[in-house]
Amino acid sequence: MKFLFADTADTVDPAFDFERTRSPRQRRVHDDDHYPHEHLIRAPYDGILLSRAAFSDHRRSGKYGAARSMRFRREGARTFLRYPEAEFPGSIVMGDCGAFSYRDADAPLYTVDDTLSFYADGGFTHGCSVDHLIFDFFTDNREPSEEARRRQEITLTLAADFYRTSVALGKRFTPMGAIQGWSPASMADAAVDLVKMGYRSLALGGMARSPTDDIELALKAINERLGASKVAIHVLGFGKVEDAPRLKRLGVTSFDTTSPLLRAFKDDRQNYFYADGNRLGHYTAVRIPQAADDRHARASAKARTVGQEELIRLERIALGAVRAYASGEGELEQTVDRIIDYVSVVLWKDKKSEKSNTAEFAKLRSIYLRSLGERPWERCDCRVCHELGVEALIFRSTNHNKRRGFHNLAVFHSLLKSQAKVSP
Ligand SMILES: [Zn+2]
Repeated sequence: MKFLFADTADTVDPAFDFERTRSPRQRRVHDDDHYPHEHLIRAPYDGILLSRAAFSDHRRSGKYGAARSMRFRREGARTFLRYPEAEFPGSIVMGDCGAFSYRDADAPLYTVDDTLSFYADGGFTHGCSVDHLIFDFFTDNREPSEEARRRQEITLTLAADFYRTSVALGKRFTPMGAIQGWSPASMADAAVDLVKMGYRSLALGGMARSPTDDIELALKAINERLGASKVAIHVLGFGKVEDAPRLKRLGVTSFDTTSPLLRAFKDDRQNYFYADGNRLGHYTAVRIPQAADDRHARASAKARTVGQEELIRLERIALGAVRAYASGEGELEQTVDRIIDYVSVVLWKDKKSEKSNTAEFAKLRSIYLRSLGERPWERCDCRVCHELGVEALIFRSTNHNKRRGFHNLAVFHSLLKSQAKVSP
């Protein structure tokens, strides 16, 4: 099963100064920065999914601004992402229309023709047909809404047109038929229609926020209806990375997500991955926010009464203690106490009672004792942990946090590969 990274324009600055927590002044955004596959020793995924919604055009602005979007069309995805086929043989560059971004519109934002020309300019190896998102998902046999039916019809009509027109892109391009439906049975019907059109590769859409149990029901229904037809099935936006083996058992050949990267800074607790035998384990990164960043001070009345100078002093002591502990000086308990001295000021929550704040910091203390005590950065062979050591486990600047996200991608990808060896 292949894991595709859904690109979100997240890069790190390789020249970032961790002592001073800042980038060099001459840094050029994007040009000097590193994508995960450039930064790590091995690419932490089998391909990249790029959504049209990430690029700006006359319709809307995306994460990649107008100038960079034009450059993308001119250079193609491989050059733009610095992801050449020669260096990453067999890797996939998949495109989709980002149906979520126009979910409230009456019809898809893009046409079949302009989508195919986007895929052609980008030099994509795989591209999904133009689809319109259906939000309903019923496991009983209730009637769908008129809107759900209408959206499935739009999706299938466009898919038929897309398949016919995609022939112009030649054999190096794999057209993927997007499945949209409101129930397992309606998704299975759509899959059968798509295979009749000629598709050998399908993409299950609209389930990015669904529980794994619902996705399993949809896949089972699709498998039953397709029978012996040989098709590849991709699940779009599957974020529960721990459940990936369950998809594999149902014949899924690939899926995409940004989740391992995002979890590094969006998840309060499970934000540093490690391989726990054949499963995914988690540690909690140690929060040492930047005192100079007054977002934190503003958030806490305690920080305001303590004052900026004292905050910076406590921050320096906490950081120094963690770094000293990692290098073999200093005791674990005292190190964690110095962290709690600082965070109990800067992360104090005014809206909560003193009692619940105190309880929260006591909990953090025991969590940090585990994170630092087990020294997971010393067991990881990714570049982030190798170069940065304990810094990879510090929740601090964007460059700290995204690097930890890169580490998470590497851990997740190698776990997926080793599971494949155990159960081919
Ligand atoms: Zn690592």
